[in-house]
Amino acid sequence: MKLQEYQSKQIFSKYGIPIPKGRVAATANEAKHIAEELGGRVVIKSQVLVGGRGKAGGILLAKNPQQAEQVAAQILAMEIKGLPVRKVLVDEAADIETEIYLGITNDRAARKPVMMASAAGGIDIEKVASETPEKIVKVHIDPLLGLRDYQARDLAAGIDLPRDQWRTFEQIARGLWQAYNDNDATLSEINPLVITSDHHLVALDGKMVLDDNALFRHPDLAEMRDLDIEAEAEVEARRHDLSFIKLDGQIGCMVNGAGLAMATMDIIKHFGGEPANFLDIGGGASSEKVAAALRIILSDSNVKAVLFNIFGGITRCDEVARGIVTALGEVKTRVPMVVRLVGTNAEEGRQILANANMITAKTLADAAQKAVVASRRGSSL
Ligand code: GDP
Ligand code: MN
Repeated sequence: MKLQEYQSKQIFSKYGIPIPKGRVAATANEAKHIAEELGGRVVIKSQVLVGGRGKAGGILLAKNPQQAEQVAAQILAMEIKGLPVRKVLVDEAADIETEIYLGITNDRAARKPVMMASAAGGIDIEKVASETPEKIVKVHIDPLLGLRDYQARDLAAGIDLPRDQWRTFEQIARGLWQAYNDNDATLSEINPLVITSDHHLVALDGKMVLDDNALFRHPDLAEMRDLDIEAEAEVEARRHDLSFIKLDGQIGCMVNGAGLAMATMDIIKHFGGEPANFLDIGGGASSEKVAAALRIILSDSNVKAVLFNIFGGITRCDEVARGIVTALGEVKTRVPMVVRLVGTNAEEGRQILANANMITAKTLADAAQKAVVASRRGSSL
């Protein structure tokens, strides 16, 4: 579960990380009032769960409350990367001297959390990581010991932070580690952490991703989930207990089992296609669940073909086939569908689908190739 910037920064603040003064608004008028309260210049920031809001025009400065109202109205009317802006954060504007990156995530290979800092903050950190990895300094954190003071100092030294900022930086690094650890996060990130012209360190942006599997331990955090700003498909998927992640490709995938789903995505890529999603319908999926999954896949207009890859163990192929037929009865579509069913009741499943105008395949490789071809042709065979 991703938290909005304002929620992440509230949590950071509880852990002693300095954040700008500000509040969230849902209307332009509210934004104006907050700007009046804050006095002086403010920054109006769209609250959407995607990165690169700045570049997309979703972050603008305002000199006075009137301008804050105008700018907020403009941003609240925007859609950023397909997500409507429903809230804006109105923060005291900062005079930025330097932008730093500071973040923690899990390093699976090292089996430890890793804290990373870079003097190249503010911009896309993935880009820094791939193009100039030497600009990122890392320390691995022993989860039993926590972040040690010398590690925070190593980071400060590694990014050539001015000496007078080290104490605050250590406090921020410690706070970020605690926020990450206490809340079962998989990512805690400040980008940018800035040094202002009057030499204060402030977390201007905040991002936290929480581990969904640990949310039951944090009912207060689970409540922060903002249903209307999450992608509709993801809300729908969670409602039906489906593991779903939207991707950017053209081939929708419906698979049972996470491992099989990953193998399916790999093989689609191998044959020159791009998966449109990761979707695990789980073991023993009912036909209703299958129907919901198909609706979710087809709600993505990028999808030019759907590949069903079902290994019937606990899940019965005939049940899945019935789900597909039910869904096709509800959702009229011309998107071609390729199906590979093996295992329990596969033959019955195939018979149910025989009249459903689907492309059948015997092996996974065969199915993937057919799906790639079908996605290029773009219409039913
Ligand atoms: P993101 O684009 O979604 O990561 O949003 P950020 O909160 O990181 O903001 C993007 C950029 O906007 C920052 O790197 C800053 O350069 C700029 N920005 C954000 N807040 C302020 C502010 O208060 N004052 C100034 N001058 N620039 C800001
Ligand atoms: Mn940012």
